[in-house]
Amino acid sequence: MQFADRLNNVETSAIRELFKLLGKPGIISFAGGFPDSAMFDVDGIRAATERALTEEPGAALQYGATEGYQPLREQLSAFMASKGAQGVAPEQLIVTTGSQQALDLLGKTMIGPGDKVIVEGPTFLATIQCFRLYGAEVISAPIDGDGVQVDALEKLIAEHRPKLVYLIPTFGNPSGATLSLARRKKVLELAVKYQTLLVEDDPYGDLYFGEAPPPSLLALSHEVPGSRDWLAHCGSLSKVLSPGLRVGWLIAPPELLAKAVMCKQFSDAHTSTFAQATAAQYLKAGRMPATLANVRAVYAERAQALCDALRQELGDAVEFVQPQGGLFVWLRLTGAGGKQQDATALAKAAIEKGVAFVPGTPFFAQNPDPATLRLSFATADVAKIREGVARLAQAL
Ligand code: PMP
Repeated sequence: MQFADRLNNVETSAIRELFKLLGKPGIISFAGGFPDSAMFDVDGIRAATERALTEEPGAALQYGATEGYQPLREQLSAFMASKGAQGVAPEQLIVTTGSQQALDLLGKTMIGPGDKVIVEGPTFLATIQCFRLYGAEVISAPIDGDGVQVDALEKLIAEHRPKLVYLIPTFGNPSGATLSLARRKKVLELAVKYQTLLVEDDPYGDLYFGEAPPPSLLALSHEVPGSRDWLAHCGSLSKVLSPGLRVGWLIAPPELLAKAVMCKQFSDAHTSTFAQATAAQYLKAGRMPATLANVRAVYAERAQALCDALRQELGDAVEFVQPQGGLFVWLRLTGAGGKQQDATALAKAAIEKGVAFVPGTPFFAQNPDPATLRLSFATADVAKIREGVARLAQAL
């Protein structure tokens, strides 16, 4: 069959092969990017579903507006305000089918063959693939423990004049890194200076363990004149409430939002009204603060257990920055003591020992570091985490 040329730009990811092995009985997985399904607020969602069907069955089961179900847009606007991003009117956001669709809509509206985009190295694999599908040349900007290095980013922007810069500023996937406050202001200034769209993908910002992270780029944008005109923000209920609901949102300048709505119309017409009505009822019932407190506490304990075990069992064979939120620890194999430094080889040995993780290479759009890997602490409990790291030590 003759497929579209755009498919030549992407390949099925190598890590999918690895995921096939995860079905092996007894395996402890640090591999997924999923939240823990044991933590879903089933009672809260059941009650919200019930109310959606009792109070608004006509809307919940009917076709709806492409922009999203108005009561949900209102709730999401209030949710954003509760997180420091005041003044986002319901009309300034659209509901998307997961934040993944927001990324796809940005690709569709902004990127054509040969266009350049800049992402962090490493970044969310599906974003790299999605932008490449639209023909983008994806350029990678270096990061450290404080997120993207802004001087290097500015040089890349000046050299390549990208269509957009995509960042996960808070508890990055896979890096776990959080962009410092000073750097946040600087990237907003860069967006204005170079008139480049800045995309803030923020599915993890609510999952902090101690102090709250710095305000989102969206919340900070009022401090940098003109930056709101160059900023898109993607949000999601996936990591805090349920990925199966497929409720995300996109906040963007009006002109861009209108184009995104047009593209969404041709794609899925609208996000499931049933899911939207349920999400709206859930938020309206005021359950989110308690849900957030619960997931933060559980993931904080698991993150601590994983980092403690890594230090104890693997010592100087690995280096990492302990994440202050999110779902991931990003690890680098140092090769100390003649130990394995190739994370892909280690992943195979680890599966043999009954533990799985994702090697870091696929998360880089350019210049991969083969010594890196991603561990998720979301789905294994503390006892399993300790056992998993012991197995990892054996594999190493
Ligand atoms: N962005 C990032 C950085 C992610 O890690 C994910 C999920 N793994 C998504 C977007 C997509 O999430 P969803 O479509 O479920 O909102």
